[in-house]
Amino acid sequence: MTLSQKDQQYNWHPYTQHQTTGLLPAIVKGEGVYLWDENGKQYLDAISSWWVNPFGHSNKVIADAIYQQLMQLDHVLFGGFTHEPAVMLSEKLLSILPSNQKKLFYSDNGSTAVEIAIKASLQYFYNKGEKRTKIIAFENGFHGDTFGAMAASGISFFTEAFQGSLLDVVRIPVPTFENKKAVLEQLETLLASTEYAAFIFEPLVQGAAGMVMYPAVILDEMFLLCKQHKTFTIADEVMTGFGKTGKTFACDYLIQQPDMMCLSKALTGGTIPMAATSFSQEIFEGFLATDVSKAFFHGHTFTANPTGCAAALAAITLLESYENQQNIKRIHEQHLLFQERIQSHPRVATTRVLGVIFALEITTNQDTSYYGSLRNTLYNFFIAQGIILRPVGNVVYILPPYITTNEQLEIIYNTLSNALDIV
Ligand SMILES: *Cc1c(COP(=O)(O)O)cnc(C)c1O
Repeated sequence: MTLSQKDQQYNWHPYTQHQTTGLLPAIVKGEGVYLWDENGKQYLDAISSWWVNPFGHSNKVIADAIYQQLMQLDHVLFGGFTHEPAVMLSEKLLSILPSNQKKLFYSDNGSTAVEIAIKASLQYFYNKGEKRTKIIAFENGFHGDTFGAMAASGISFFTEAFQGSLLDVVRIPVPTFENKKAVLEQLETLLASTEYAAFIFEPLVQGAAGMVMYPAVILDEMFLLCKQHKTFTIADEVMTGFGKTGKTFACDYLIQQPDMMCLSKALTGGTIPMAATSFSQEIFEGFLATDVSKAFFHGHTFTANPTGCAAALAAITLLESYENQQNIKRIHEQHLLFQERIQSHPRVATTRVLGVIFALEITTNQDTSYYGSLRNTLYNFFIAQGIILRPVGNVVYILPPYITTNEQLEIIYNTLSNALDIV
């Protein structure tokens, strides 16, 4: 039996209807921007393996840091102990995060990073004896699949089955220059009720919604309203973090600073599952008391795993290198050139670019739902061409590893142009 056949026998894949899904390609090797399956077919990874892998697959610098760390100290419980990689990583992260971020709490994935921010918001007010038990979020946001994160995510068939069991979350539209006044008014009305502990959002780009982008100046205004009404802002930078928007964090485009930030995905360059939630000093102090019950009783077995911390430190060093900073600028410029060239195509409804993120909406009268027929036609076309792109409904986006060369980008762009002609 092939790996793909054995996989079908044993494994249950994420977001997959197994009754209608055939054999999945079994990837046996990754190097740089390429992956290879068991039949030797090569794939160009144009979405950085779900946005985690900006420095390429099997990166030697990160692999070496992981190996060295494993030989020194693999893991130690973070309850009651600390260790050098965690101290060094926190010091590093706090030096690149917005200046009001003062404390880090580690976990294993984007959903837990969000879970921690939401729980900390709720408990902060509980500790103070204030009744703020609800959350504000954007329509069509995505914050993960655990219960708190799922509650904060937009309602769709992903979360419908659990609607009765979720946290109280109110959703507001994503702001544009057109609806700005109405959105700000709606936000202010909600905030005035003093029932809300936090407002959670993906800053500037809603990834899973199809790289939906909105202006930083409006988010700044929303921050100010939240501050006035003492509701915390939670910037979920799980997707946007570590250079994807052209700055280290999407929040670097803002004048205001968030109270909390959620980081994961590219944190370890796609090597070790790892996440961090950062906090302002004010929030941290809301848990200080002589009474132990005011502490934040949350943790994960692998919290601040030393190997993950070492991988993250290596990944941040790579991000800060002159080479990758230039790569981010170069890819952005290439995207702008491609945008100019493609936007007049009759099948293109709209395009958008921020940092290394390029998105294109296709004009169609086909089914444009999340896993609709158009999406499947496109996905299969790209896979057949050896390019990994996962369209969201009628949106095709590119989020290439920063090491992608202009020649490789050209292959992705051309395949995308060709796809427009077949749909
Ligand atoms: C992917 C993602 C998450 C969830 O991360 P997981 O590691 O898949 O749990 C949360 N928020 C955003 C913005 C994401 O893109």
